Amino acid sequence: MNLPQFNDIWQETTNWQPSPDQQLLFDELYNKIIETNKYLNLTRITTPEEFWEKNLWDSLAPLMGYDLNNKKIIDIGTGGGFPGIPGAIAFNRGQFTLMDSTTKKINFIAQLAQDLNITNITTLVDRAETIGQEKAYRKQFDFALIRAVAETSVCLEYTLPLLKKNGTAILYRGNWTQEEEEKSKKIAHLLGGNIEKIVNQNTPLNNNIRHCIYVKKIGNTPKQYPREVGKPVKQPL
Ligand code: SAM
Repeated sequence: MNLPQFNDIWQETTNWQPSPDQQLLFDELYNKIIETNKYLNLTRITTPEEFWEKNLWDSLAPLMGYDLNNKKIIDIGTGGGFPGIPGAIAFNRGQFTLMDSTTKKINFIAQLAQDLNITNITTLVDRAETIGQEKAYRKQFDFALIRAVAETSVCLEYTLPLLKKNGTAILYRGNWTQEEEEKSKKIAHLLGGNIEKIVNQNTPLNNNIRHCIYVKKIGNTPKQYPREVGKPVKQPL
């Protein structure tokens, strides 16, 4: 094993521990990422401890209050597969769609899922603004995950249209301010959502600041959202 296991930290901070099979998959995931990172820029995070904390723990800690099994989950702007791949390993009966606009990254994830026999991952090369207006994706998901993709208002515009009623968007953030909270509450309402809770849980090894924003879909997202490709970033709500 190349990765630390840190079962006690998992238990203490998330009330969950990976099984031996899941630990093995995490290790294989780490090896593949390191190997591929030599020619494709998937992550800056390369030491085992950093990978454990910033890609495994950080992906999973915000999910552990929920049961994602038998649910439909989309990871928007998944990049090298975070939080989606650890999510699919931890909840192996959840149906995960990992989406990114970069073909190379998505090809890597599709190959990895095949090599590691992770059968609950579907991959998709597309843009959040496009699929948010498509019948096959709009209002289809129970959970929408988004980490390190854009500012909060953009994340709300990308995630909320994709959720079913009562679905939950999980926004992975670092710092969080009162001002951002006030603004986000209004934008969430405009898009048919409501901020249910904001959880601050810093990372367990380096104590880096983390906030997780849970937004429930309580109504309908007006038809005009998401706006056309590029507009949410250029003219944020
Ligand atoms: N979520 C991953 C993580 O936390 O490691 C990757 C983060 S990376 C900084 C941002 C990713 O979002 C990139 O791979 C980029 O291609 C993707 N992205 C940005 N805007 C997007 C959009 N509108 N639709 C789909 N993917 C997008």
